[in-house]
Amino acid sequence: MADQAQERSAQGDVKISFDGAAERLGLSQGVRRLFVEPWRELRVALPVRMDDGSMEVFIGYRVQHNAARGPYKGGVRFHPRANQDEVRALAMLMTWKTALADVPFGGAKGGIMVDPHKLSASELNRLTRRYTSSIQHLIGPHRDIPAPDLGSNAQTMAWMMDEYGQANGYTPSVVTGKPIEVGGSLGREAATGRGAMYVLQAAANDLGIELRHCRIVLQGFGNVGSWFARIAHGEGARIVAVADHLGGVYNDRLLDIPALVDYAKEHGSVAGFPGGTPLPPEDLFTIESDILVPAAIENVINESNAGSIKTRLVLEAANQPVTPEADAIFKERGIPVLPDILVNAGGVVVSYFEWTQNLQQYSWGEDRVNDALKERMLRAYDAVASLVKNSDRTFREAAYEIGVERVARAAELRGFVV
Ligand code: NAD
Repeated sequence: MADQAQERSAQGDVKISFDGAAERLGLSQGVRRLFVEPWRELRVALPVRMDDGSMEVFIGYRVQHNAARGPYKGGVRFHPRANQDEVRALAMLMTWKTALADVPFGGAKGGIMVDPHKLSASELNRLTRRYTSSIQHLIGPHRDIPAPDLGSNAQTMAWMMDEYGQANGYTPSVVTGKPIEVGGSLGREAATGRGAMYVLQAAANDLGIELRHCRIVLQGFGNVGSWFARIAHGEGARIVAVADHLGGVYNDRLLDIPALVDYAKEHGSVAGFPGGTPLPPEDLFTIESDILVPAAIENVINESNAGSIKTRLVLEAANQPVTPEADAIFKERGIPVLPDILVNAGGVVVSYFEWTQNLQQYSWGEDRVNDALKERMLRAYDAVASLVKNSDRTFREAAYEIGVERVARAAELRGFVV
């Protein structure tokens, strides 16, 4: 699985969806070219003193794809495969996502090629500070605002804010996804999982799927997966199988999600959870479900397994979990795929609320955050669903078309070409 992910071009995969949308929208060749080229890219070498006194050099990236609709915005990924191709793809994805969610940002992404599980907290702190000081001339509250992603978290953002502040003064609005105590927003940690649940509820309603009696299979139990699970479980949905990078667990009746959350917090994985039978992670997609939720990494659903997966609906909580080949197979099989740029936009929506709270030095209550999140997620879903209803487009095709069109319109209004 990992090899396959490595061989293919992540950017090429996003481009396939972009090209289709550009064609249907009749975009000029010039605008198409502008949109497939990242605006600015930085690659940095990051020398870090390890706890044993040795020195390691890590490689990091920041890619700024497009800022027609506002400052660049996108997470920083800590992952051994966070290479330039992947970071470019994710930056482009952010451009369409922020436009679809209608938040006033462009698209960017960062990455450090590292396995964060292998570093101590103090090593991660030093690495994060090195990375921040190396990209600090590109970021800022009105330039580019990083956030957490795969392998990074609220603590990472607190370190980034602190390092940026050393040189630029106290600036909480330079990053989002911070801990509440240092300017984070209530509701931000759960936002991506919660937003995914709002989209699922709306889609299930439209597709005649009764969530209360559904079987859900979930890959990934980190920020996105575990919050999605908590919220879905709280709404009465039945999560029957969960797997992460170390193991999986299956219970045909239902998994006790609050207990699984506590277990995973203590053990760093769902592997070995006593409330179900152990499940090798590679067998997860063989389990029959009504809703399949990939919430971990990219390319896990591909041409080798899409034909045999038994489900009624795929909810892409992760970025790029379904390859274009698998997308085509699902289309032929009549299985709807709700796309990443719609489903996981909740994180960037509440990042937007966090940024506005920081700029105003005024904090919102959690109900206000969740209500405003719901309103934006449903607005984005409704726009996509109505385009799907009135055409033979897939949800992904419709979502891309809406996102790309909004960015093209902003670029045109700003008169980018001089
Ligand atoms: P995380 O690091 O908190 O958790 C990742 C989870 O995926 C972990 O449970 C890990 O064990 C699992 N995983 C990793 N490799 C795996 C493998 N090979 N097989 C099975 N499981 C594996 O990351 P996250 O923040 O939850 O992000 C997950 C996905 O959601 C990523 O694609 C990310 O880009 C996307 N996303 C995250 C946010 C956010 O707000 N955190 C927002 C939008 C999109």
